[in-house]
Amino acid sequence: MTTKKINIGISSCLLGEETRYDGDHNYAPEIVEAWDSAFNWISVCPEVAIDLGVPRETIDLVEVDNQIRLLRTNTRTDLTNRMNRFISRQLTALDRQHLHGFVLRSKSPSCGLSRVPIEGENGRVMHRRGQGMFAAALVKRFPFLPVAEDGKLKTESARNNFLERVFAHQRWTGCVTCSKSKKAVVEFHNQHRIQLVAHGIGPLKQLDELIANHKPLSAARLKKNYGELFFHALERPITPPRATVALKQVFRELKPKLHPKRKQIIENAIKDARNVDAPISRPWGMLRHELENHSLPGLFNQSWFQPSDSELKLSWFGS
Ligand code: SF4
Repeated sequence: MTTKKINIGISSCLLGEETRYDGDHNYAPEIVEAWDSAFNWISVCPEVAIDLGVPRETIDLVEVDNQIRLLRTNTRTDLTNRMNRFISRQLTALDRQHLHGFVLRSKSPSCGLSRVPIEGENGRVMHRRGQGMFAAALVKRFPFLPVAEDGKLKTESARNNFLERVFAHQRWTGCVTCSKSKKAVVEFHNQHRIQLVAHGIGPLKQLDELIANHKPLSAARLKKNYGELFFHALERPITPPRATVALKQVFRELKPKLHPKRKQIIENAIKDARNVDAPISRPWGMLRHELENHSLPGLFNQSWFQPSDSELKLSWFGS
């Protein structure tokens, strides 16, 4: 059986397309080649799409009368309206493609998600806290969509975090967005409790509180509030101490069902996992195996122990 690939948007130059202003590309093999088997890349180059051509004059974000405008560097032609018209059409098209993530090229005045230079009218950089025009509109339109810049995906842990958010977004849109009931959000929360523990107890407490007090909220409001907190919580990296808390929680419930020898082996593997060099996947795999053999209410359907085949292959679970 073939698994359907997941639609992920990407800045065209990261795919190796020669769309940069100088006719070059920014091919990112650690992303494209590593994830190609599971992802269907939706390539977007805003600057080529508005017919700026390749090669082309560079463009900058410039603050003019308290507004950010997109101007050509030398001629100062204002491209803001042209870019906005493209963005509006493109976001509508992306909405129909049911994306579960987007990888953007860092620092670009169109695609950069953070630290994009903003110039004053005199051409001097005022600060580097800007966002590219396309990137800013993308995160505004799809607030829960996992989005990352290539520059922030250099480490394995950052790539694992992005993958985790992509697969969680796929589950979220599958179970919650399609249902009109609040029950779907409550069930989603219950299935993600252990996964949330691995990202830190603080965010889990906030989500528990929201679920416990959801009665006065409409289904739409609950989904919005929950989605914001949930995807924000997943952005916190899984560290060895946080993972250990999650593993221990599962181990405590499984303990009475385990043979003393097996209990000891798993306990030692969890202790080892606090050490940065020991993979979390070892005790995680042991617990997953035990969960398959012992049905425990509340634990049998935990998302953290039920990764999809693609997630298992691409992420740390399989390491
Ligand atoms: S950063 Fe964005 S606009 Fe620039 S070449 Fe890459 S895809 Fe095109």
